[in-house]
Amino acid sequence: MRIRVDDIPEEGLYVETDDTDTWAFQAASQAIEGPVHELKVVLTLTRIAELLRVSGTASARGGHVCDRCGGDLEISIGGKVELLYEPIGKPDSDEVHLTDPSDLDIGFFDGLALDLTDVIMEQFALWLPDKVVCGGRGVKQVGAAWSCAVAAQPEVPERENPFAKLRLPD
Ligand SMILES: [Zn+2]
Repeated sequence: MRIRVDDIPEEGLYVETDDTDTWAFQAASQAIEGPVHELKVVLTLTRIAELLRVSGTASARGGHVCDRCGGDLEISIGGKVELLYEPIGKPDSDEVHLTDPSDLDIGFFDGLALDLTDVIMEQFALWLPDKVVCGGRGVKQVGAAWSCAVAAQPEVPERENPFAKLRLPD
C-alpha cells in the first residue's frame, strides 16, 4: 500500500485500515509472527519539509506460540504511533530541527512514496517483545490454563545402524 508523497495534502492524509484489508492483515501477521485476529490502524501522514511524519494509533491481537513452552497464546500489542521517515540518500537537511530526536523512531523511504505495509510491519515489530511467553505483558494462554515450563525436548530416536542387518556372505 504505497502512498505517493505528492498525494499527501498540506493538512495531512488520514489513513484508516483494519484486518479486512489483506495488505494490512498480512503485514501485521508477519510482524507479530502469527495470524492476526483483530487489527486497527489509524494514521495521519504529514509532510515536514522533505520528511514524512506518521502519527496515530495501532493495535493488533493475534496468535503466537510461547517461546518457553510452545503452547498456543494470544498476544495483544498496540499504542501510539510516532514515526518519522527520511528520504534515503539525501544529505542531512538543516531545515528541520527535531526537538528531541531520541523520542522518535526514524525510518527511510525512497523520497517518492511511503509503503504503509512497511510502516505497519516496523511498528508492530518494534512493539513485539523479544520473547513472547505465558504470563508476559498482553499475553494470554488460549484454552484451559497450563503451567508454563521449558518444553521437553522431543526424544530423538536412536538412528538405526544401517549396517545392522547387513550379513556378510559366508
Ligand atoms: Zn509458555
